[in-house]
Amino acid sequence: MKLSGLRNIGITAHIDAGKTTLSERILFNAGITRHMGEVDDGTTILDWMDQERERGITISAAATLLPWAEHHIQLIDTPGHVDFTVEVERCLRVLDGVVAVFSAVDGVQPQSETVWRQANRYGIPRIAFVNKMDREGADLESVVQDLRSTLRANAVLFQIPIWREGVFCGAVDLLTMQDVPPDQLEEASFARDVLVETLLEEDEELLEAWLDGHRPEPEQLRRCARRAVLGGGLVPVFCGSALRNCGIELLLDAVVAYLPSPLDIGVLLGEEPNTRKPVERLPSVDAPFCALAFKAHGEPGYGFLTWLRVYSGQLPAGGAVINARNGKRERLSRVSRLHADEREQVECLRPGDIVAVAGMQFTVTGDTLHAPGAPITLESIHFPDPVIFAAVEPETEAAQQSLSCALDRLLAEDPTLAIRPDPVTGQVLLGGMGELHLEVAQARLQREFGIQARFGRPRVAWRETISGQGEGSGRVDRIVGGRGQFAIVHLSVEPDESDEVHLETALPKLFARAVRAGIRESLLQGPLAGVPVRGVAVRVHGHDLSDVDSSEQAFRLAASKALGQALSRAGPVLLEPLMRVEVVVPDESMGVVLGDLTARRAVVSGLTARAGRQAVAATVPVAALFGYATQLRSMTQGRGDYSMLPEGYGRVPTSMVAEITGR
Ligand code: GDP
Ligand code: MG
Repeated sequence: MKLSGLRNIGITAHIDAGKTTLSERILFNAGITRHMGEVDDGTTILDWMDQERERGITISAAATLLPWAEHHIQLIDTPGHVDFTVEVERCLRVLDGVVAVFSAVDGVQPQSETVWRQANRYGIPRIAFVNKMDREGADLESVVQDLRSTLRANAVLFQIPIWREGVFCGAVDLLTMQDVPPDQLEEASFARDVLVETLLEEDEELLEAWLDGHRPEPEQLRRCARRAVLGGGLVPVFCGSALRNCGIELLLDAVVAYLPSPLDIGVLLGEEPNTRKPVERLPSVDAPFCALAFKAHGEPGYGFLTWLRVYSGQLPAGGAVINARNGKRERLSRVSRLHADEREQVECLRPGDIVAVAGMQFTVTGDTLHAPGAPITLESIHFPDPVIFAAVEPETEAAQQSLSCALDRLLAEDPTLAIRPDPVTGQVLLGGMGELHLEVAQARLQREFGIQARFGRPRVAWRETISGQGEGSGRVDRIVGGRGQFAIVHLSVEPDESDEVHLETALPKLFARAVRAGIRESLLQGPLAGVPVRGVAVRVHGHDLSDVDSSEQAFRLAASKALGQALSRAGPVLLEPLMRVEVVVPDESMGVVLGDLTARRAVVSGLTARAGRQAVAATVPVAALFGYATQLRSMTQGRGDYSMLPEGYGRVPTSMVAEITGR
């Protein structure tokens, strides 16, 4: 398999735009499957998790390799639901190109918009596929307009639809102009001129020749288009109907013609793990090996699998690599790749490969693996902290052990889940990116691990921080069981993103450790609302001890007291997680939706009109978003839609602090 012939692509779409159906058709047309799977009767291959079948949404992402026109297309199935945009992010990190699917009836919807912006951030070349052309109300022109105005994409039609008696039955390829129905000749010629003019901007010589009346060859136009797409300046638009298996072959041809191979990505930038000096790698078999772990999950019958994207070098299966984060050596023994749901052993890893490795021990999502002696850390994937938490309890006391094992497993797979103890009740709290995220975790516990877990009502992941500096002292001086307990700790706190603890006083080792432990413990429970404290640097600058009566216990307690005092004196502030929310609603629902957003403490940052609909961009506290999906549905008779992504933390208004802290 030649590197220039490989296309690592993902399909992104708003939920229901037809991504799963399209993926199925692609597998069918590439000869991977012999019958066409249907989403509607639950027989698709890519949605293998039962859960997805039931919910009809794609949650986990799998990579599938398929041959097409002397090339290989590696299809990475990206999830579409709003609560899983982070999952999309980690796929985007390892993709080279994207097919963005839009519904011809609904146009650019909020999730496709969110994903589009994520793809912009990674500079990923894209082509657009306008699906559902067979549906009544399909409007290709208006989707293209939407792409241009809403997404600011230089979207240009490469095809025009063919209609027979009002029924969609294919498309004219504007580059070749083959088989144009006579009654659409004029329309097609016009569209072709628009296309040719855009493409020839890439090539002055061809442009001049064209202006002199020379017709450019389709191959020349394709070369111009490829250059423009790779440069990010052009988004070719194709159309079809996945359901009717119409337009799929031309789309696959376009993937091969316009989307990048791993070679086109060019020099890869990273840093030396220790010195953090810039390091470069070429996507070549001759460069030293490096790869990024972008996903890990348990797979019935295969154990735990870690997915790698290889960027440079080559490595025979069984070869050893170093994990850049922890310096540990890992052997990549059982390496496989996926053809739909069939696994194939990989003998040698090469640039551009996306493979699953079984039995990795020290590697988690986001880690770089490199050849011994050629260290590099690739830019990792950014995972936001959980925004909500819910208490999780096993049905029976006896299931506690298996519940914690299962939770560990879920966490290793999904870096946006987290657990922490509830400092008051001691319960285990599971955190995630939204209500649906936790619901899915609960369902997976039952299905994959046979654990019935009770979930409490989700709570917001509040935080505390401080607005100034503060000093504190803690003194412990008492007698317990006939022995004296004595320790004094002096410390100060100040606002600082590093969250570091500095020991600036010469304490014996054991006591130093006890002081650190006391501080860490107290940072889990701030003085204002008993929630974790962040953005604080602690300096321990003085202590007193007794040779006879001091103990670790006493120092731990003294440090904790000192910290509590210092924090209370440093102007503690309550923070809440915020979401960036995009809502799209019909014109007539705009008033009520905006009113509701205001009641939810939203800060609206933009309003845009789109063909009969309005888009609202706003920042909204997570606390005010519970039940939003249901509420929006009822306010808009099911015609409203939204997407959201975490957007940092904001200060809770003073008037609400008492309500939250209950003090
Ligand atoms: P996903 O959520 O993006 O993965 O979308 P699905 O592939 O699950 O499709 C959502 C719904 O749209 C299903 O009921 C499909 O049968 C239907 N659908 C998908 N593609 C087309 C199409 O081209 N035409 C029509 N009419 N329906 C389609
Ligand atoms: Mg789907």
